Amino acid sequence: MDKLVYLDNNATTRVDERVLEEMMPYFKEEYANPSSMYSFAKKASDAIKEARVKIRDFVNARDEKEIIFTSCGSESANTAIRGVLNYNKNKKHIITTKVEHPCVLNLYQTLEKQGYRVDYIGVNSNGELNIDELENAIDEDTALVSVMWANNETGVIFPIKKISEIIKSKNKDTKFFVDSVQVAGKIPIDVQENGIDLLGISGHKFHAPKGVGALYVNSKTMITPLIIGGHQERGKRAGTENTPYIVGIGKAAELAQDSLKYEMTEVKRLRDKLESNIVKKIYNARINTGVAERVPNTTNIGFEYIEGELILLHLSDMGICASSGSACTSGSLEPSHVLRAMNVPFTAIHGSIRWSLSRFTTEEEIDYVIDKLPEIIEKVTSISPYQKELQALKNLRQN
Ligand code: PLP
Repeated sequence: MDKLVYLDNNATTRVDERVLEEMMPYFKEEYANPSSMYSFAKKASDAIKEARVKIRDFVNARDEKEIIFTSCGSESANTAIRGVLNYNKNKKHIITTKVEHPCVLNLYQTLEKQGYRVDYIGVNSNGELNIDELENAIDEDTALVSVMWANNETGVIFPIKKISEIIKSKNKDTKFFVDSVQVAGKIPIDVQENGIDLLGISGHKFHAPKGVGALYVNSKTMITPLIIGGHQERGKRAGTENTPYIVGIGKAAELAQDSLKYEMTEVKRLRDKLESNIVKKIYNARINTGVAERVPNTTNIGFEYIEGELILLHLSDMGICASSGSACTSGSLEPSHVLRAMNVPFTAIHGSIRWSLSRFTTEEEIDYVIDKLPEIIEKVTSISPYQKELQALKNLRQN
């Protein structure tokens, strides 16, 4: 393959070789249905048990029975949200944020049409959650508070422990769901320490394959299953277990745990190097999240007065993959709902690019981007209709 610098790891990640290796026997030799009675099925059923323990440890759950395997992050979120609401149909109020992933936001919009009252909590210009607004929104009727741990577009981390303390102090019956898809493998996850009732993760964001996720539901939280059928997953998610993929997410979790320190130091160092060099070398670049606390692998940078799509095309010509919004919304020219919620100025919102690294990102790759990007931005800037404004910005930033 020609040159490839993959900096879109919040969209998906490369499967780790060690994960693939661990999965292979469950396609070829140990293909039994894990629920079967004969001894040939024992290896498959033991492998699922082992993976469940690995996910338990990864999120620090008390008991592996609190882990349900799903097909993806979207299914984990839907199972959690619909599961809680369907179990207790008396309560009709939900609190979430304006910057959730579409798999959560679109579900809440559907639920609103079905009679639920939903409060969407805003963020400030750095993408940080307005906690007072959230606190004031909790009432007697609040069934669920649903907040992502880190945002997929900006990487901004929300204060999960503080939010859970607020919820418990205002309404002990309110359940707390945390979409943790973008923190898995980037910062430690501890459901007990953070007072989380339900938590979703997705394998393909931390070097397992696409098509497998997990949901933590604490033993005190009851849910009605989304998929009804056989008794798999203790009746909480029917369907023959996907043994190789479950083995894969278990192994990926173990590896992610082992490389957390690397992620929080080395990956962060490379992200910071990329970010500081872009801002130093390109006068019309701004870090959209200011000083907000973020996961170590992500930066979202606005290039003022130019179009993000054009930047992406030029990057792609040089073998560099980044993204101008979440993968689901790119392809539309609508600016991202996340950056709009942050009130990113219109001059920067259309030219905002998300860069997301992984433990496979190398220094040489970051140096390549730092080397190539200024000429790309210069080319795109030269055809911008906003030359007067750009000149004024140049004068301002260079003084
Ligand atoms: N939640 C967040 C924050 C995400 O970034 C994503 C995927 O981009 C999802 C949920 C959905 O995960 P999946 O693609 O596994 O359904």
